[in-house]
Amino acid sequence: SSRFELLDISWFTACMEAGRPVDSELKYRLMDAFEVMAENYEFKENEIFCLEFLRAASVLKFLPFPVTKMKDIQGLPCMGDRVRDIIEEIIEEGESSRAKEVLNDERYQSFKQFTSVFGVGVKTSEKWYRMGLRTLEEVKADNTLKLSKMQKAGFLYYEDLVSCVSKAEADAVSLIVKNTVCRFLPDALVTITGGFRRGKEIGHDIDFLITNPGPREDDELLHKVVDLWKKQGLLLYCDMIESTFVKEQLPSRKVDAMDNFQKCFAILKLYQPRVDNSSYNMSKKFHTEVKDWKAIRVDLVITPFEQYAYALLGWTGSRQFGRDLRRYANHERKMILDNHALYDRRKCQQPGIRFRNRKGCWLLLYQTLVPLAGV
Ligand code: ATP
Ligand code: MN
Ligand code: MN
Repeated sequence: SSRFELLDISWFTACMEAGRPVDSELKYRLMDAFEVMAENYEFKENEIFCLEFLRAASVLKFLPFPVTKMKDIQGLPCMGDRVRDIIEEIIEEGESSRAKEVLNDERYQSFKQFTSVFGVGVKTSEKWYRMGLRTLEEVKADNTLKLSKMQKAGFLYYEDLVSCVSKAEADAVSLIVKNTVCRFLPDALVTITGGFRRGKEIGHDIDFLITNPGPREDDELLHKVVDLWKKQGLLLYCDMIESTFVKEQLPSRKVDAMDNFQKCFAILKLYQPRVDNSSYNMSKKFHTEVKDWKAIRVDLVITPFEQYAYALLGWTGSRQFGRDLRRYANHERKMILDNHALYDRRKCQQPGIRFRNRKGCWLLLYQTLVPLAGV
């Protein structure tokens, strides 16, 4: 039917035009199953199968009509056999035996626990699992493990960091970030990005993009900001990544490219008004301390003004939207999009230079790409 033809041309454009997605309970059940499958493949470092399920979940999420039978997904993109099998089973049985199997799988459960710690990824989880460790309690009890500075902070503030960040907390942190940045650069633009910019009510961290309109740049700004927080006793953890961007840099064609901006992955102490009066009074009585703050994960990224628009697009996410946008730019528009710029491959002044890489594959090196005017 015509609605599928529309989706075939460019499904995400169709979804945007269709406005709000139509919700149905079955759709959520499908999306949940896909997310479990994707996560399990991520833990197995099978990127292809992982992305397959993430894409399928995205397609369903913004589908402008409900799914109740197999015919509803006919002609939709990203519905491979593995995905269809699960849809069929959920439509018929109400649940997916494959997803259930994963949820009950010991390895999946351990990896899920391990990766919930800040600083612990699939590689570390794999190592711990191979050592016979299965739960976070067992990891904590093992004195032979060498934890990184990041993982130590992850365990230290675990309870705070797994409890999600609320919109109110994001607004409170936003004020702190803006005030601190503007002390050093009064004209700086500080914008919340990530999930909160997409309108989400909760998040796992708060992302900020900082830029200074005009020619003035301050390479020291992030350092000044975290130094002040350190002095104020607000900085619980900080991992500063220096900029690695060079002017003649080729745009990245990777679908999951990290960018080259100077950034800081931090944990901030957010003081909170006391809500639990009873424990406060108890603590006064027994002279014990009540924790009146929460540890919050904050990402700060600083960009030159000309690259701000691209950085804003990339850091707003979602990750899947970014991947699809870059794929769309590349395949449908013959352009290359990354967090620094948008390049038009057809506007190359010289044809790209062909050369063989070490594995003997032909590569095209676009030497003279012209970035489109900054937005
Ligand atoms: P959550 O609520 O879980 O934080 P989120 O969408 O904000 O959801 P983040 O992991 O904070 O997720 O990432 C926000 C966006 O920034 C994503 O689109 C992601 O692709 C991008 N991003 C995250 N880390 C980097 C990085 N190191 N380099 C470039 N882009 C990144
Ligand atoms: Mn985020
Ligand atoms: Mn983040």
